[in-house]
This record gives sequence, C-alpha cells and structure tokens, in this order.
Amino acid sequence: MIEKILVANRGEIALRVIRAAREMGIKSVAVHSTADADAMHVRMADETVCIGPAPSPQSYLSIPAIIAACEVTGAQAIHPGYGFLSENANFVQVVEDHDLIFIGPTAEHIRVMGDKITAKETMRNLGVPCVPGSEGGVADLETAKRLGQEIGYPVIIKATAGGGGKGMKVANSPAEMERAFMTARAEGKSNFGNDAVYIEKYLQKPRHIEIQVFGDGKGNAVHLAERDCSLQRRHQKVFEEAPGPAINEEERNRIGKVCADAVAAINYIGAGTIEFLYEDGEFYFIEMNTRLQVEHPVTEAIFGVDLVREQIRVAEGLPMSFTQDDLQINGHAIEVRINAEKLPNFAPCPGRITQYHAPGGLGVRMDSALYDGYSIPPYYDSLIGKLIVHGRDRREALARLDRALGELIVDGVDTTVPLFNALLQEPDILAGDYDIHWLERWLESNLGEG
Ligand code: ADP
Repeated sequence: MIEKILVANRGEIALRVIRAAREMGIKSVAVHSTADADAMHVRMADETVCIGPAPSPQSYLSIPAIIAACEVTGAQAIHPGYGFLSENANFVQVVEDHDLIFIGPTAEHIRVMGDKITAKETMRNLGVPCVPGSEGGVADLETAKRLGQEIGYPVIIKATAGGGGKGMKVANSPAEMERAFMTARAEGKSNFGNDAVYIEKYLQKPRHIEIQVFGDGKGNAVHLAERDCSLQRRHQKVFEEAPGPAINEEERNRIGKVCADAVAAINYIGAGTIEFLYEDGEFYFIEMNTRLQVEHPVTEAIFGVDLVREQIRVAEGLPMSFTQDDLQINGHAIEVRINAEKLPNFAPCPGRITQYHAPGGLGVRMDSALYDGYSIPPYYDSLIGKLIVHGRDRREALARLDRALGELIVDGVDTTVPLFNALLQEPDILAGDYDIHWLERWLESNLGEG
C-alpha cells in the first residue's frame, strides 16, 4: 500500500493531489523551487523539500532532484499532476528503475501517445476514427505539396512532438504550404527537439470534444463521457463543460465505447483523455493525453467521482471503484480558467494578491492555490484558479457560474474574469452554439485582438 506520495508539481493541481491523498489517509510530500517557498501547496503538504531555484528546468523539471526528494522523505509514489514531467516517458522510466510507483500510465503508453504520428497510427489500428491526412510523417516539401492537393486545402501541418498549441500551422492554399511546413518543422525542432511533421485536413467548424477514459492496467477500462473544450484562444482552452451541449446520448455511448475498448486493448492504466474534433456528427481523433487534465473537475462533478483517488487506487493495484454501468451523468458542469493575465492581449500579470475571496455555496468548487498576500511568481504558467460549477442542467450551471463569478474577489493582479462575465452575455454561449474558432472571432471583434 502507498503510505506517502510525492507531488511533483505546484499550484492548484498540487493541492488537488494532496487533498485526495489526505482523504485516503496517505501522507504527502510537496516539492518546491525557492520561488515557491511560500506557496500554498508547501503549506498544505505533510512534508516539504526544496528542489532547486526558480527556473523549472532546475526544479520542477529536474528528474534527479525529484528522485532524491523521494529518497530523503521515503515517498513510495509520485503523482506528476499535469504539465511539467507528467508526460515525460524518460521520467517514468527513471521512477520505475528506482522502484518507485508512478501514478499514471506506463512509460510505453506515454511514449506511444506522446508522438502524435505513432499515436494516430495506434488509434487507427484500434478502430478509432481519425482526421484524414498523411499516413505517418511527411519528410519534404514536395511530398507536403502533393499531399496538400490530395487532401484538399486548407490543411494543417503538425509537429509530431507538438503540444500546448505549439508546432501547428495552417496552409490555406498551395502558396502557403512552404511557409507553414517550414514553420511547423522549425517550431517542432526548437520547442520539442523533433522536426518530424505530418499533415491533416483542416476542419472548418469543428468542436473540440474529448473523452475521459480510465483503465486499471489489466485490460479493464471505462469512459466517463465527454467534455466540450471548444472555447479556445491560440489552441488553449479557457472554458470547458460536460456533458457537451452538441452531443447526444447515442453519439456519447458510441464514441465512449470505441475509446474504452481502445484503451482496454492496450492495458492502459489510470486516467487518459482521447481528444477529437467533432463536425457534422463525426468524430476525428487528434491526440491522446496520458495524464489528468486541467479540466477533469467537470467530469468529476457530473459523475460524482474523485479521479485522483482512482488514479492512486489503480497505481496500488486495486480495481477501479466503478463499472461502466455505475457511471451515470448527473446534471451539467462548467469550468472557467482564471489566469493572471491582462486583457485584451492576455499578457501574463504576475504580482501580489492584495485580497482574495473564493466563491462558495451549492454546486461551486474553486480549485486555487491563492491566498491573501500571496505573490504570484513570474516563472510559471498564469493559471491561478479554476472555478467549477455544477447544476441540475446547463441553464442552472450557467446561472451559477454568473453568480459565483460575482462572488470571486482577486485584487492586486489582472485576471481573465472580465472575459467570462462578457461571454455570459453572449447568446451563442448561452445556447451552447460555438465551435473551436468562435472565441478567436469574438476576441477580434470585441477586444480588437488579432
Ligand atoms: P496540442 O497538442 O498542441 O494541444 P492538438 O492536436 O490537441 O494540439 O490540437 C489543439 C487544437 O488545435 C485543437 O483543439 C483544435 O482547436 C486545433 N486543431 C488541431 N487539429 C486540427 C485540424 N485538423 N483541423 C482544425 N483544427 C485543428
């Protein structure tokens, strides 16, 4: 049995894991950089270890420092959260080599899904529908141009190692191919050390629909329906909801089963997300994330489950605590990502929080590591909180979101709260009628962003 977990992360997700561990009677170890000595996750954990200076390559991304922290504290398991080392197959290998438990999938699962070309190939072979495009990588510009003609413009050129919206370029016509191809390659190389790219049909008005899956590593897997994360800025999600307003029960059950069967077939262990673009009733696989997602709480809300607790259980070799039949959707949930950013350009806005008050009441969950007087360091990402609301239906969830945003006080820094206040006035948002380009268009015409 796991008695102590080291959380290799910071901010709200570190708190999230510490909370689950505490409820299970498991001790937690927080690691932190020198810039995070006063962070909330450090205050909340049972033990703490400073693992290095502020820049993440020397602290939160330092594999030797994290392994050493496990050794000095006697932690038997590591939860990676999201971001940082959560999808680093080499890290998982090192963890396993040190006889520690990685709370997440195997190094092999991460390796396969971390390379988008291999991931797509694997999923296609498992019967998962994919976006039409190149079979595997595209090595040179000539081939790219030929494929552009074959697939039909517009197309998107994607770095196989890409992530976080980096390494993707759209070509609307043959004339744009050279630049898009070269840029995607260069971004892949400079951001991820890998210049392999592939080509896909660029869908015009899809929604981003992702299926939450969960496996026990022994060939059993379930799905926990979908999240609609179509509201994105620069391919980054800002507003997520479950269930998806455009998905009906038949579609949900169909794609859910395809996904659960696929991960069962590869003995997947833990939480995973299979991402699709959805257009005209069809699902097209784009990638799989082999970790807990930022937006997992909307799924927890509608199913009444604790996904981190389940991750820990299966990592201990225990069965999942639910079957597919147990998983019935209850109501509707929405999450908004509160970033310390200044509109209209979303410039990061670190600084000191002079006043903080979290909203509460029925159906409201605020996952945040903020407190009065906390100074947001400039070194890490700008997410400072996630506000999740749950209602009996979508209309109630929207009303609750409006109410909860009104209660939230974050003084001292600019945040993305005004964006959500404005979105809640939009008929399309209220109707659930939006695709992956809706927000960019809206920002352009309302905030003059572009
Ligand atoms: P990342 O790993 O960087 O998040 P994804 O492959 O998940 O990249 O794509 C991120 C977003 O980019 C999607 O949610 C969607 O908005 C857009 N996108 C990706 N592929 C396509 C495509 N073939 N057509 C249209 N939009 C796409």
